[in-house]
Amino acid sequence: AEVAPGARFGPEDDQYEIGKQLGHGAASQVFACRRLRDGEKFAVKTVDLRRLCLLGDMQEQLSRLDCEVRILKELRHERIVNLEGFHKTDNWYFLVMELVRGGELFDVIVRNKSLSEMEARHVFLQLLEGVGFMHSRGVIHRDLKPENLLVASSRPKDGGQLYDVKIADFGLSKTIGGGASLARTRVGTPQYWAPEVLDVQKRGGSYDHAADFWGLGAVLFVMLCGRYPFDGQKQALDEQIRTASYCMSGSRWRGISEAAKSLVRGLLRVNPVDRLSLEECLKHPWVLGQPLPPKTRL
Ligand code: ADP
Ligand code: MG
Repeated sequence: AEVAPGARFGPEDDQYEIGKQLGHGAASQVFACRRLRDGEKFAVKTVDLRRLCLLGDMQEQLSRLDCEVRILKELRHERIVNLEGFHKTDNWYFLVMELVRGGELFDVIVRNKSLSEMEARHVFLQLLEGVGFMHSRGVIHRDLKPENLLVASSRPKDGGQLYDVKIADFGLSKTIGGGASLARTRVGTPQYWAPEVLDVQKRGGSYDHAADFWGLGAVLFVMLCGRYPFDGQKQALDEQIRTASYCMSGSRWRGISEAAKSLVRGLLRVNPVDRLSLEECLKHPWVLGQPLPPKTRL
């Protein structure tokens, strides 16, 4: 059967009808869907197993999908997108998730050019909650970026918006501890790769949850200025990441507090050992919430 609006999936007694498309990733298409038995709305991430092999080793891709499902099942938290159910056919994977209606944080940033510090802080605090929770459960996300952060709701506050976000896309996540092998594979999205992720195969080393704090630093950077911290073609990009060469001067950073910049610096540190931890983030002056400057429009 085709996977498109109007199509149905699921077992005979628990069917869903596919609605409009919400987004897509490298191997997935995500649609709104409706559970027929009660009309409740969800989102479904569909993965075409025939196309999956184009992305590399089929067995590895499949085990990654299983891993995504297993991890999502274990993580029940307000700041993490909830997995409702899961269905598999010969050619398709269906991950039924809670429907997050506000779209990607990425689009919110693009639409507004950047977020104010007050807006960014609200998001950042929520991300700390979500990331703190998953790390306490031994899960590293490894792909934190504004495309994988979904806006659940938004309400006005002090001339800005409080965006409530949920962390999505555990497709590259990994469980550590408990005897499981440490994170050894290089995964993620180049612009957001931490230096130790970049070099992990070369060095044969391993990295842990500090990679998510690098990701948080990159997300914070993007929220504040509306630009990637690292950008360019493969070679140049890798070099920028390895040396944490990013720039916080120029018109986009004018008016942004020193506290915000110091938090970014503390997160985007090459050596994972030097990077701020969850506890340090929570104690950081910018997070603790002294008054923030109003947004200066570009
Ligand atoms: P991939 O692993 O292929 O990147 P994602 O899980 O990131 O797939 O989903 C791709 C896109 O689909 C997201 O960036 C987002 O736009 C949309 N999306 C994913 N999950 C949901 C959801 N639960 N509610 C609403 N939109 C979603
Ligand atoms: Mg994604």
